[in-house]
Amino acid sequence: MSVRSDPYKVAVSQVQRAGEMLGLEQGMIDLMTRPKREFTVNFPVRMDDGSIRVFTGFRVQHNFARGPCKGGIRYHPAVSLDEVRALAMWMTWKCATVGLPYGGAKGGVICNPKEMSAGELERMTRRYASEIAPIIGPHVDIPAPDMYTDAQVMAWIMDTYSMNVGYSVPGVVTGKPISLGGSEGREEATSRGLAYCVREAMTVEGVQREGATAAVQGFGNVGWNAARLLKEELGMRITALSDSSGGIFDPAGLDPVDVYEHKRRTGSVQGYPEALDITNQELLEMECTVLVPAALENVLSSDNADRVKARIVAEGANGPTTPEADRVLYEKGITLIPDILCNAGGVTVSYFEWVQDLQFLFWSKAEIENRLDQIMTYSFARVYATAGAKEVDMRTAAYLLAVDEVVQATKMRGIYP
Ligand code: GLU
Repeated sequence: MSVRSDPYKVAVSQVQRAGEMLGLEQGMIDLMTRPKREFTVNFPVRMDDGSIRVFTGFRVQHNFARGPCKGGIRYHPAVSLDEVRALAMWMTWKCATVGLPYGGAKGGVICNPKEMSAGELERMTRRYASEIAPIIGPHVDIPAPDMYTDAQVMAWIMDTYSMNVGYSVPGVVTGKPISLGGSEGREEATSRGLAYCVREAMTVEGVQREGATAAVQGFGNVGWNAARLLKEELGMRITALSDSSGGIFDPAGLDPVDVYEHKRRTGSVQGYPEALDITNQELLEMECTVLVPAALENVLSSDNADRVKARIVAEGANGPTTPEADRVLYEKGITLIPDILCNAGGVTVSYFEWVQDLQFLFWSKAEIENRLDQIMTYSFARVYATAGAKEVDMRTAAYLLAVDEVVQATKMRGIYP
């Protein structure tokens, strides 16, 4: 089994453990781990050369005990049903951890967007949106961006859905362009929430801001904005950055905005003037105050966890750490801010966007940032306090809180009929 098809097993084991600690009966644990609804679609797209290509897409709705389903759509050649299942489940716990009235969902299409033209991407997106239209909607399941999808893709989904129902429905997706009912601050929201968590972790752990450094793996929306905000807002020195082709290191500090420009020009962060080229593996094992894995799943595993030298690990990606690595990092005294808390800023501002769309009333960037800060700071404190009280790592603490939240909602609603 390839590493990228493991996440569902990891996700199930995390819930099994939390469920046992909470004293839940096995039937309830099974209910918490099995996705409510799984949708697979195979659909044709006319390619630029005139040929027809059949794509496979998924939409998994894990749980909607606490409200409509919510979660992104991923375009990647390695997307699988198991991966989408795990990501959908993590959305359920993420929304519960930060108190959003949603259940979890995720979608994905097996494709390589880097090798597709804009026209092909648009036709594929519109057809996929039509295929999943029966199970999405502003009160049912609200997609959003994820890996290799962006505001443009969300605009196409919103338009396709709206054309089919005959009127504009901005609340059917979040992460849209501002001109179509998108929210201020959504683009950088995941990273801003992460920066707030890092700020709180440094405070409670007594880690000095002065001289603090960060290494960030991944230079997509989450990674690059995290690097920028850790520098701009927390005054940290960004000593290492990377993308899928490799990384760069400069002990004097990198300027993420300038590296972004360099990547736009050359296609990679590597070869950046003055910096040393390094591998992604080297980046993860570097001496630094904060390590931000913001790329793929399972990058911190039993193979490398004992060599991690960061004081704090802030999970920008979903599922970057395996359960074995969790144990090693905890024993080493490293503070790990788990994905379902650390990167929840994205879905939190998605929630703000949805609320604004449903009301046709829009908020300022300052209001968004203020509300996001309040939710992240409160959620961080709640998870941190639980970890201390139960003498467990922060991921286990977050699961104990989130699973309990969903179980309580399920019990209150009762088992139908
Ligand atoms: N894809 C993001 C995540 O994994 C955001 C989901 C959303 O905004 O609904 O949290």
